[in-house]
Amino acid sequence: MNRPKILILGAGYGGLTTAVNLQKKIGSNVADITIINKNSYHYESTWLHEASAGTLSPEKVRYDIQSVLNNKVNFVQAAVESIDATNKKVITDAGEMSYDYLVVGLGFEGETFGIEGLDKFAFGISDVNEARKLRDHINSQFAEWASQAPAEKDDTLLTIVVGGAGFTGIEFLGELANRIPELCKEYDAPQEKVRVICVEAAPTVLPMFSRELVEYAVGYLTKKGIEFSIGTPVVQATPEGVKIKKGEEEFEFIKAGTVVWAAGVRGSRIVEESDIPSKRARVAVDKDLRVPGFPEVFIVGDCAFLMNEEAGRPYPTTAQIAMQQAITVAENLIALIEGKDTKEFVPALKGTVCSLGDSDAIGEVFGKEITGKPASFMKKVIDNRALYMVGGAGLVLKKGKFNVL
Ligand code: FAD
Ligand code: NAD
Repeated sequence: MNRPKILILGAGYGGLTTAVNLQKKIGSNVADITIINKNSYHYESTWLHEASAGTLSPEKVRYDIQSVLNNKVNFVQAAVESIDATNKKVITDAGEMSYDYLVVGLGFEGETFGIEGLDKFAFGISDVNEARKLRDHINSQFAEWASQAPAEKDDTLLTIVVGGAGFTGIEFLGELANRIPELCKEYDAPQEKVRVICVEAAPTVLPMFSRELVEYAVGYLTKKGIEFSIGTPVVQATPEGVKIKKGEEEFEFIKAGTVVWAAGVRGSRIVEESDIPSKRARVAVDKDLRVPGFPEVFIVGDCAFLMNEEAGRPYPTTAQIAMQQAITVAENLIALIEGKDTKEFVPALKGTVCSLGDSDAIGEVFGKEITGKPASFMKKVIDNRALYMVGGAGLVLKKGKFNVL
């Protein structure tokens, strides 16, 4: 009998965790398992704000995909171009591949909501290439300022606008707050010439946290020189900066050398353009993470949409959820191959921590609110745990964060 072909698209948290759980739990020669990813490496997207600000090397953020796979899983480096779920085919830039079971883990992309100019003039924080571009751009703005004649210095080169005060925006600001003094030293720039402005559309930052935690985070960042413009959506980006809306008919233009867009994510365009029904590139999956109407297709991670019925809102798009889903997907694939019933995905939400640079954070863990060093310590434990779940102690030793306090 032919062995069933399992194809996994994307080696992010969802895809790669599915692959390593399959290789742990499936018998030898039971299935042909292939994982496809456009890069030869996996990156910790949860560390991209650090690489983007320049506080962590992009090398530290990524590792070789092959290094965590054994001979039960084939790795193919290719970019997925389209999915034809009706005919059970995937088209890649390395050719067409067929499957019996498909796992889609193509992850997230930045969402610009169609706001004029953002796609051209703002920097995103969605992958290693974007992180490197943003870090290099900020450096180049400082270098340009330093090279200008004293009487002709354009201080707006040293202005950085960050759109969005959700998790990504706040974590990036935390890193930037630590990076700015280093940049000022390196490029002989007085720190009072630098402006970092966070622009948020909603009436508060980080609405998922209590008022006390939000006040802690905003107070901490404000003390480090970050300015906040709250309740003032970005409505346009140009090569010179951003336009924000301050009232019914009131707008302000902020001149800035760097505009960073950290105001939301969507699923992969490949999913949106496929014959699998989706909304903002996210697929409403059944409780066992399969696609209604396509029982051989699983969606894992940020491309999946699943309601948390207790809370009355969808589960957030997080690495925590992606990795937990992946364990269920691997078990359900084995169940299907063995002719058994699949099981429901039941998340075990442990809490959330939002870092404020390398040595501070806020969070809610197992129902308890934490701030400062304990929260920062917990964030590093979470980061190291994600490495452990994929590559065991060896990967933690190689890539882990040990500057815990
Ligand atoms: P991803 O991790 O995005 O992986 C997708 C993979 O697919 C990538 O390897 C990509 O290269 C590959 N791929 C994409 N398109 C193609 C293609 N066409 N062909 C081939 N390969 C392709 N969540 C938390 O739980 N905790 C945190 O602390 C946290 N911090 C974050 C910090 C930042 C700065 C950001 C941006 C996000 C953070 N998140 C965090 C959210 C988390 O990163 C995502 O929810 C998570 O990465 C989703 O996992 P995924 O497997 O769905 O996709
Ligand atoms: P988000 O959707 O959580 O936050 C985006 C923010 O941008 C919101 O506050 C929104 O009001 C604001 N915004 C939207 N339009 C705007 C506009 N026009 N102008 C100004 N502000 C605007 O997105 P995110 O922060 O990128 O997070 C994406 C996902 O990744 C979430 O599920 C989050 O939980 C997860 N994440 C988690 C962590 C963590 O656990 N530490 C860190 C980063 C991201």
